[in-house]
Amino acid sequence: MTEDMLARRARLMGPNVPTFYRNPVHLVRGQGVWLWDAAGKRYLDCYNNVAHVGHCHPRVVAAIAGQAAVLNTHTRYLHDNVLDYIERLTGHLGHGISQAIMTCTGSEANDIALRMAQAVTGKTGIIATDNTYHGNTAAVSALSTRRPPIGGYPGHVRFVPAPDSLRPVGGSVDGQAQAFAAHVARAIAELEAAGHGFSGMILCPVFANEGLPAVAPGFLDPTVAVIRKAGGLVIADEVQPGFGRVGSHFWGHDWLGFAPDVVTVGKPMANGHPVGAVLARPDVMGAFREAFGYFNTFGGNPVSAAACLAVLDVMADEGLQAQAATVSAHVMDRMRALRHPLLAEVRGAGLFFGAEFVLDDAMTPATAFVADLVEAMVARGFLLNRIGRGANTLKIRPPLVFSLENADSLIDALEQALRETPVAA
Ligand code: PMP
Repeated sequence: MTEDMLARRARLMGPNVPTFYRNPVHLVRGQGVWLWDAAGKRYLDCYNNVAHVGHCHPRVVAAIAGQAAVLNTHTRYLHDNVLDYIERLTGHLGHGISQAIMTCTGSEANDIALRMAQAVTGKTGIIATDNTYHGNTAAVSALSTRRPPIGGYPGHVRFVPAPDSLRPVGGSVDGQAQAFAAHVARAIAELEAAGHGFSGMILCPVFANEGLPAVAPGFLDPTVAVIRKAGGLVIADEVQPGFGRVGSHFWGHDWLGFAPDVVTVGKPMANGHPVGAVLARPDVMGAFREAFGYFNTFGGNPVSAAACLAVLDVMADEGLQAQAATVSAHVMDRMRALRHPLLAEVRGAGLFFGAEFVLDDAMTPATAFVADLVEAMVARGFLLNRIGRGANTLKIRPPLVFSLENADSLIDALEQALRETPVAA
């Protein structure tokens, strides 16, 4: 059955289509934090940040169905939904950010953010960390070091070493913030010397794809000062941390304590309906609209906007950001109590957790062990995965409706899996 589907996918979708897990899971139904596969096996979803308010939340489903039954069209016609949503969403934002462009993906949002930085500065140089992902358009995929573009990286792109709590940039955890900022300053100087100039830096406030390193509030202060001094824009990619995931704050940048010029969002904002957005101050938006115009056939359509509004309603009515903070504290307590010879560090940012495993004092990634651990958890009915440069950090990032009881069953299973997974170097 699985083999048949894999063969069919290869035949219809081509080679090298990513799947999760050694035995790819064929899901057929979801509800809240639960997912069921075709054989009826139930999984606790400890991974999916898209189903933010829970899989198939009835209010989101009803909002989509209700609006789809009345009208769906694009933003060249006037409609209240998109305006109501931008008003509501920007109400959660400070830093003078009050305008938005709706898109269908986070990639498009980041693509626009890069062009906003170009429009404001008249320059093209852009900086990202050297172990990240900001999306799959041609422009933003050039910001990912995982698969170099054909012909090499464009000259206007520079990478700086990603923060890392076990192997800190500059050699010490205490000096990491300054060392990181110094790399950014060097990259800016290089861009200017090469004639590209500097337009801005794009950053995920929790450094999610970098491996969720432990960073303290204020970590980016020296970097933001360097960016501003050089006249560049600070772009916060909130695709992963946004919408209350960090528990204490609605946004990752407020959690880390810095003021972005542009914020991009995606994944969780419509609970699985494909929506993204780029949010900016009026001066930044004005410069972009002047330079580029912009229209997106599906971005901001009334059905998508209805789904987005329903997510905000559910978050507020069910108190999900506060719940994320409560459950986060409990999970961190239990993760800190885990004991295993390869476990080097546990870390978290709200309802987003990492547990990094290494083989030795040189911090050699325990990649194979964590791969086996993930499989052991999937076999037990817990969906989670791996992140980080060495893919040796367990990644736990459940829907926000994840409860204390769910958390306990996850950590109980993890304790068992840690005991039973062989430690082979
Ligand atoms: N930014 C970050 C930080 C992401 O993790 C991702 C997707 N994993 C994206 C942008 C791209 O979003 P999308 O897949 O919706 O284009």
